[in-house]
Parts: sequence; structure tokens; C-alpha cells
Amino acid sequence: MDNYLYSREYKAEDTVIKLGSHLLGGGHFAHIAGPCAVESLEQIITTAEAVKAAGAVALRGGAFKPRTSPYTFRGLGKEGIDLLLQAKKAVGLPIVSEITSVSQLALFRDVDVLQIGARNMQNFELLQEVGKVGKPVLLKRGVGSTVEEWLFSAEYVLLGGTKEVILCERGVRSFSGGERLTLDLSSIKKVKQLTHLPVIVDPSHVSSNSKEVMANALAAVGAGCDGLITEVHCSPNDALCDGRHALNTEEFLTLTDKVRGLLDVIGRTDL
Ligand code: PEP
Ligand code: MN
Repeated sequence: MDNYLYSREYKAEDTVIKLGSHLLGGGHFAHIAGPCAVESLEQIITTAEAVKAAGAVALRGGAFKPRTSPYTFRGLGKEGIDLLLQAKKAVGLPIVSEITSVSQLALFRDVDVLQIGARNMQNFELLQEVGKVGKPVLLKRGVGSTVEEWLFSAEYVLLGGTKEVILCERGVRSFSGGERLTLDLSSIKKVKQLTHLPVIVDPSHVSSNSKEVMANALAAVGAGCDGLITEVHCSPNDALCDGRHALNTEEFLTLTDKVRGLLDVIGRTDL
């Protein structure tokens, strides 16, 4: 086995990443939550306060949204990042947002975690450039990518210089009904044996409604993930993007209670 930077051969012990005052990895479970897209100051602050109260340790929110159809809401861009930064200040949570181009790097100066979306998992120039910033990078698995391809993408980010990559399983194209993807729970342990990097799961984008999100999130915790990134909206019916699978704030509170209980049952009390 080669000593790739991501590998257990290169570094045996788990990488632990600081998210504000909380830790992710090495036995520390972290829940990241927030809306698919930042829509307004009121929406992002209301949602941020609720997810923080429920136990989320970081706030997600997209400003640059890669969408399948160019005619759907594609995010507020720079204004979205500005609103997210205001929420960070007001609520006191570190923020996670997707960067889709090297040209956006300056705008992301005060964003705590740079997210690379599934569609950009093999945008190798972007991977290496975000790695140079030195901040944690949340790397989603491409929906048609193998575990090996995903890990080599992490290698590109690590080669940039950062030591902190969070791998995020979000489903692969398979035979599930409708247009949704299949959550590959089997990848979690597989990947964790190969790499010291933390592995989290996005239960939202494979799901068609909040019941599926809850079930997929709990299944992922049972399968041994180090954390979750879940889409939550203060008013899912009014969401401009991905409202169908967004949890409302009460549902998120129910989920975090269940996650805590499950971690306890399986012997992980470190939420
Ligand atoms: C997202 O997290 O908002 C997103 C677009 O995810 P993905 O890249 O996994 O589709
Ligand atoms: Mn989304």
C-alpha cells in the first residue's frame, strides 16, 4: 500500500478537526446543519439560532448553488456569503459554504469550512487551490464516483497543504426509486479503515421528505459516521431550494435528540 497522505499507513491516528469550540473525528461526533441556500438575513439567523439550540456545532448555507436546471434558484452569490457572515457573528457558529470556483476564494476569507460539492469532486484545480488555504475542506463524494476516486480527490486537497479534509458521503447513482440516489452506508467503515480523515454523512440529498432524512441520518450514525450535515429550514414550504427534504426546526430538534440517544446506545457519548 502506498503512503498516500490520506492513508492510515501515512498517519495511523484519526484526524480531529476543530469546528469552533467543538471537535469532529477521533470519537468526537459533530452535527452541521442549516438551509440548502442562504435566502435572507431573517431566514439564515432564525434557522441558525434553532440549529444551535438543538446542538448543531456549525451552520451550513449555500451562496453559490450548482443546480441541475439553470432556471432554478442558484443562490445569492456574494450577498449570500455576506448574510452567512452576519449569522456567524450574531449566532456564534462557524460556517460551512460551497465554493464552486477558484475565482471566489477571496469572498470565502472568513468562511470557516470550504465545501466542495459532489459535482466538483474531480475539479482537480479547485481541489488543490482550496487545499492551499489551510482551512478544513468538506469534500462531498461525487454521485458516480468510487471510494478510490473520492480518496484520490482528498489527496489533491491534502497536497495543497491543508491537513484537514472532512469526507462526506451523500449517495451514489443506483436503482432506488425516482430521481433520488442511494445512500452508500457501506462506504463509511470502508473509508474509515483506509483513511485517518473524518467521514460524515449528508442524509438530506438522497431523501424525498423529512421522514426519509430522519431514517437515513440514524442509519448513518449506526453505521459509524463521525458526523452529519443536515439541511434545515425555518419554513421549508417557503424554501427557494430543496424545501422538500428540509427538516423544519422542530424536526431537527427531534433528530438531534434521537442521534444523542443512539450514540449513547452504541457507546459514543461524545456529542
Ligand atoms: C449541498 O450541500 O447543498 C449540495 C448541493 O450538495 P451536493 O454537492 O452533495 O449535491
Ligand atoms: Mn440542498
